[in-house]
Amino acid sequence: PWSAALTREGDPSIAARLQREVTPDNIRENLRELTARPHIAGKEMDLGVAQLLRDRWLEYGFDSARLVPYDVLLAYPSRDPNRLSRVSLLESDGTVVVESQQQEAGADDPEAEPPFNAYSGSGEVQGDLVYVNFARAEDFQTLVRDLGVDVTGKVCIARYGKIFRGDKVNQAGQFGCAGLILYSDPEQCVAPGMAVWPDGWMMPSTGVQRGTVKGTNGDVLTPFYPANEYAYRLPEQDAGLPTIPVHPISYGVAVEILRNMAGPEAPLDWQGGLDITYHLGPGYTGPANSRTVRLVVNQDREVRTTYNVIGTIRGAVEPDRYVIVGNHHDAWVYGGVDPSSGTAVLLELARAMGKLKREGWRPRRTVVFGSWGAEEEGLIGSGEFVEDYIRSLQERTVAYLNCDAAAGGNFSLSVAASPLLHRMIREASKKVPDPHEPSKKLYDTWRMKRPEEEGNPDTRPKINKLGAGSDHAPFFQHAGIASSDMLSDIDPALGVTSYPLYHSAYETFDLQDRFIDPGWTVHQAVGRLWGEMAVTLADALVLPLDVRDYAAALQQMMDELRQEHGSRLSAQNIGLEHLESAIANFTRATTNFHQTVGSVDKSNPLTVRAVNDRLMKLEGAFIDPLGLPDRPWFRHVAFAPSSVNTYAGQSFPGLADALFDIDNAADQAARWEVVKKQLAVTTFTVQSAANTLVNNL
Ligand code: GLU
Ligand code: CA
Ligand code: ZN
Ligand code: ZN
Repeated sequence: PWSAALTREGDPSIAARLQREVTPDNIRENLRELTARPHIAGKEMDLGVAQLLRDRWLEYGFDSARLVPYDVLLAYPSRDPNRLSRVSLLESDGTVVVESQQQEAGADDPEAEPPFNAYSGSGEVQGDLVYVNFARAEDFQTLVRDLGVDVTGKVCIARYGKIFRGDKVNQAGQFGCAGLILYSDPEQCVAPGMAVWPDGWMMPSTGVQRGTVKGTNGDVLTPFYPANEYAYRLPEQDAGLPTIPVHPISYGVAVEILRNMAGPEAPLDWQGGLDITYHLGPGYTGPANSRTVRLVVNQDREVRTTYNVIGTIRGAVEPDRYVIVGNHHDAWVYGGVDPSSGTAVLLELARAMGKLKREGWRPRRTVVFGSWGAEEEGLIGSGEFVEDYIRSLQERTVAYLNCDAAAGGNFSLSVAASPLLHRMIREASKKVPDPHEPSKKLYDTWRMKRPEEEGNPDTRPKINKLGAGSDHAPFFQHAGIASSDMLSDIDPALGVTSYPLYHSAYETFDLQDRFIDPGWTVHQAVGRLWGEMAVTLADALVLPLDVRDYAAALQQMMDELRQEHGSRLSAQNIGLEHLESAIANFTRATTNFHQTVGSVDKSNPLTVRAVNDRLMKLEGAFIDPLGLPDRPWFRHVAFAPSSVNTYAGQSFPGLADALFDIDNAADQAARWEVVKKQLAVTTFTVQSAANTLVNNL
């Protein structure tokens, strides 16, 4: 006979007690403390915040908490007065008409780095300006193919928004721009009629969005291996960093630079929110026609230490099974939203779990808290940790639950996740009171505000595909661990991209306290949901991962693939029937396996563990060890960050990339060979995932 403890169901009162323990006031005080000083990666307060977290977790009663450092390539703007980065509009005699500022007005903390785009190339370019809208692949295609504007060798200016800024730089480089200026257009950061900071939460004319422009795969010098003391480091020139200079400016400066541009009027949907008519360029017209734009960027790149913090509450029955909750702690400046609102919640969740533990609870599985360094530079701390511990993580991790900024807005929950976690997340949200209408549950408001099906009163809430953009990416895309990401977000009807003060020095404690979440109940709700999810996964006897939702997702992805590319494929005599049949096999396997899960002998810990292991390992079955074409670090065959927008999730990415704009590709025949190979790889991977759910070889 087995010991009863081995087969005990989780105690449902634990999550409820955890929820009661999470208070708005504590989160508020946490955020005040975390935002007291700037805490960019690799500088004093990266370590300072990491130590604070470690000490607090130990104080709360964690079984362990330690710093896990990595030595990684980081970039900072030069502070040498002769080498300051800037954008200037110049008369032909060199007189400066307008120049970007070193600091945002009202934010002159000497510890705050001036606005910059990390890993930009350094250097100076001067010449005629061309306006390239959002600098998306399709914007450059329109410019070059349809509008006949030559961007080679030009200084280009693009507005922020729609896609990850690193992809803009990548496109600009590919199309031959000499340099790229990024600015926040009011259309993307000021909702009509709403007040700007400090009277409101819209972007003022002096605000600048910082941000990395490198790819999103950990430390660039040490791909695939941890950046530790014996690491082999690539020469910097082989690290694939951007070579063109890139610099961000405010719309107060951008309007002067965009005014009086020559060339055709920009298309209607390229007109932004500034009170000018946008022209494409190149250069200027009228009395301004001899003006040029100069872009100077000087950044210092150095290998420096960033700190992760890893804390654990050891599992009582299955200590070698991990449920990981994670958030990064480094911020561009104060991190009032990104990430410290999430860190403040993580700390409160840690305190609450610690309290339950002291009162006698121990989770069935180990709960791991991860606080990552250098996320902002491109998911570096988490990427290195995943590389370092990849074997253990892949063998033992049930799920990774990310929360970066907890509250960018107070409109509604927004979630992206592996299909395996959809049901569990929705169920958890049914147990958390809505922060605005406590008589309702988070689930009710979430599904009304972000419906899966518009207009259907019975709709479920929509859960998005995971792209990159935060620390779930290394866990999900590189290691194949079921992952989720969540935050409370702004109303998309406002039309602005993300929350307007994103990555500016105005992201402060006051922004939360005065505008986003004055009652701190939004933060509380996110913390409660995070706790529900973690405890559910850590305590459930049978893991609440639902394989049927994976089959449904694959079927939908198949439909989309057929719709988008079916005729193009059949014109090449490429059939989809093998992939279809693999998905049908997968669907059958999941249906049967779900029955196995339902009827498992719960009195036998070995059969329970066998079923749980299959559930835990299913995500990893979608990993191709060789990775995706041209980006081997991304290895999940079903989902990857989109190659044209790192923030967005792309289904069947190997196929999607090979088919992208194939009709205009330079070497179409070679591309079709990639398509054929990726179709085979995708088919094989789906079939092998199905095989893992079937009993015999
Ligand atoms: N969160 C950071 C950003 O948006 C990094 C994103 C990434 O590298 O995927 O700038
Ligand atoms: Ca590495
Ligand atoms: Zn963040
Ligand atoms: Zn960020």
